[in-house]
Amino acid sequence: MPAGAQATSVGRSPLPASLLTRLAAVVGRDALVDSPEALLVYECDGYTLERGAPDLVVLPRSPEQVAAVVRVLAADGVAFVPRGAGTGLSGGTLPVAAPVMICTSRLQTIESIDLRNRRVVAQAGVVNLWITRQVQAAGLLYAPDPSSQGACTIGGNVAENSGGPHTLKYGVTTNHVLGVELVLPTGEVVQLGGAVEERPGYDLTGLVVGSEGTFGIVTRATLRLSRAPEAYRTLLAVFDTIDAASEAVSGIIAAGIVPAALEMMDRLILQAVEAAFHAGLPLDAGAVLLVELDGAAVGLEPLAEQVRAVCARHGAREVRVAADDAERALLWKCRKRAFGAVGRLAPNYCTQDGVVPRTRVPDIVRAITATAERHRLRIGNVFHAGDGNIHPIVLFDERDADEVQRVLAAGREILEACIALGGSVTGEHGIGVEKIAQMPLLFSPEDLLAMTRVRAVFDPEGRANPHKIFPDAKVCVETRAPRRQAAL
Ligand SMILES: Cc1cc2nc3c(=O)[nH]c(=O)nc-3n(C[C@H](O)[C@H](O)[C@H](O)COP(=O)(O)OP(=O)(O)OC[C@H]3O[C@@H](n4cnc5c(N)ncnc54)[C@H](O)[C@@H]3O)c2cc1C
Repeated sequence: MPAGAQATSVGRSPLPASLLTRLAAVVGRDALVDSPEALLVYECDGYTLERGAPDLVVLPRSPEQVAAVVRVLAADGVAFVPRGAGTGLSGGTLPVAAPVMICTSRLQTIESIDLRNRRVVAQAGVVNLWITRQVQAAGLLYAPDPSSQGACTIGGNVAENSGGPHTLKYGVTTNHVLGVELVLPTGEVVQLGGAVEERPGYDLTGLVVGSEGTFGIVTRATLRLSRAPEAYRTLLAVFDTIDAASEAVSGIIAAGIVPAALEMMDRLILQAVEAAFHAGLPLDAGAVLLVELDGAAVGLEPLAEQVRAVCARHGAREVRVAADDAERALLWKCRKRAFGAVGRLAPNYCTQDGVVPRTRVPDIVRAITATAERHRLRIGNVFHAGDGNIHPIVLFDERDADEVQRVLAAGREILEACIALGGSVTGEHGIGVEKIAQMPLLFSPEDLLAMTRVRAVFDPEGRANPHKIFPDAKVCVETRAPRRQAAL
């Protein structure tokens, strides 16, 4: 285990002797992973700061097998952690006091596609992008588009209520999930919501979306499809300062324009991205905005003109429009793969995920700049500016102990600044284990108690993904050192 990473086997009892045999009877021996070497694959997700392998990974092939596995675990009171593709960025799949990991990545069937009613029923292990690929010939798409959409699964998206660049206009996962099938920690299976839009009773689907695996395991989801826009205009606005670019973000929204996406990259990120993808990005710019407009072709040109005018008013020195699909794709490649490109800049980096009201984007950017100066750190910014969802990337070298401490302090200060500006400590990556300590900054003890009571309705014994989201006296997962981390 790398220096600074935390072990998480604390609180675990040894597995009952006959468990392996009983689980093998359900899923087959080849769907169980228990060798120490193979288990290393599962010791962390995209949040690599804390690590710990489970004792056993189960890879069921169907929703029915998931339920049967959970029933076997329930009989022995064994805790479990759900896992999809493991791209999560807040340590949600870390097996803290949960010896068994149930991985839904083999549940890969898109079970039904109803083009006329724009509905899809997908199993939990279906990869996000597969859905759009299945329906795009019919002019439809699945709107939530996390940058990890080529790898992350619907089960993980539902658990994290994931967002993406185009969720500014189209909404996050919760706006596109009509129903889920949930295996409760007892092994009972409940159908929540469904293909019909409005249902009487509590919105339990809404409750499950974003519950980070603490209510049980999602095995199927009914998803809403959206009509693909007729046309796009993708603009790249170039600014001398990040301050001017963030003022332009507020200006665009204040003008009543809701772009499909409104993303920002600052100079540090531009340099990394240009070195990786050679898109002709301006290396001397303070920041660029990537603004995507979509809809009926006839309305886009005047809208693009309006955006151009707002950007010019806020000091844009150039506004470029992607000439064709190839140029649009290249700009999006730069944006969606920016985090990979950042690996060129420093031995390590650590990504923060916070959110502020979008009118406060200029303030949070100033706060990040001041934090970077105060702690003598390089911080790059690439974020969903239109949503106020920031992803400052703090560069460092983990061999420099003093710098590591400054990175941790900077991360805390940035999140505290988000809260002070009326925002929150996560825009889309969830709480997991990473941000448990910040929860009391956002919520009162009464708020937290209310939420843990709701959790207890689904999982009274606390066996589904224990010790996640909420501060918990029993297990303290403490962050000692940030590590290299890919993110949004
Ligand atoms: C390069 C990169 C870019 C990213 N970009 C974005 C982005 O733009 N927007 C964004 O929101 N996120 C982004 N992420 C984060 C991540 O991809 C999302 O959180 C994603 O939804 C996780 O899906 P997964 O299948 O990998 O889930 P995992 O990482 O396996 O699990 C995530 C959480 O969901 C729970 N879980 C998984 N499957 C189930 C299930 N079937 N039932 C119940 N609980 C379950 C797990 O217990 C865990 O708590 C990015 C990550 C990377 C590495």
